[in-house]
Amino acid sequence: MISKAVDYCKADQLLICAYKAIQDKLKDPNYWSHVELEKLKKRAKEHYIEEQKTHCCYCNMHQNSKNHRIWDLEHIAPRAKYAHFMFEPKNLAAACPDCNTHKGDKEVLVNTRRRTYPTKSEDFKIVHPHYDKYTDHIKHRRFVYVPVTKKGKYTIYLCDLLRFTVDFIGASGSASDNSFEDEMDAAFNAEDNQDLADLALELIELQLKK
Ligand SMILES: [Zn+2]
Repeated sequence: MISKAVDYCKADQLLICAYKAIQDKLKDPNYWSHVELEKLKKRAKEHYIEEQKTHCCYCNMHQNSKNHRIWDLEHIAPRAKYAHFMFEPKNLAAACPDCNTHKGDKEVLVNTRRRTYPTKSEDFKIVHPHYDKYTDHIKHRRFVYVPVTKKGKYTIYLCDLLRFTVDFIGASGSASDNSFEDEMDAAFNAEDNQDLADLALELIELQLKK
């Protein structure tokens, strides 16, 4: 869980003020790609990579590098839909590019007509890196993700966290096939890890068979 949101420096604040002065309906999500924002984005990304101790905010995987090329500065409420939250410090976090790509512009807010940034965990459909403790919502052991709450389940779905399990066992079919369970069983037996096998079983029951 992120305890400290990014603090913008004076130069960044000037840019943000100019953006905030634009009427909400005229705010352009593509402004994020403007060259004048490069330093702001670099500073914010650095902050969150450090703050999250090089763990992705959605899959919780640790990456052994702070290299900006393997991290995305992620808008939790997607900027394509919520351009007015573009610079909101609590709407930003560091994510791995795979989670970011899978999440895309999918909806995460309970109330999609919010004009001010939501301040509570229950305002979001996903595990919010600033408001939620990851382990309260998702049990994560190596390549297995088991939802503990509805939010956890939605996050697993939205960011396709099942991809780690599928990759690990090298499943040939889709996770909803009957053979998937057999392949997973075989993989865990080979690993001789009962704990993970139990977690995986929960995963299958809770997630795949619904
Ligand atoms: Zn990730």
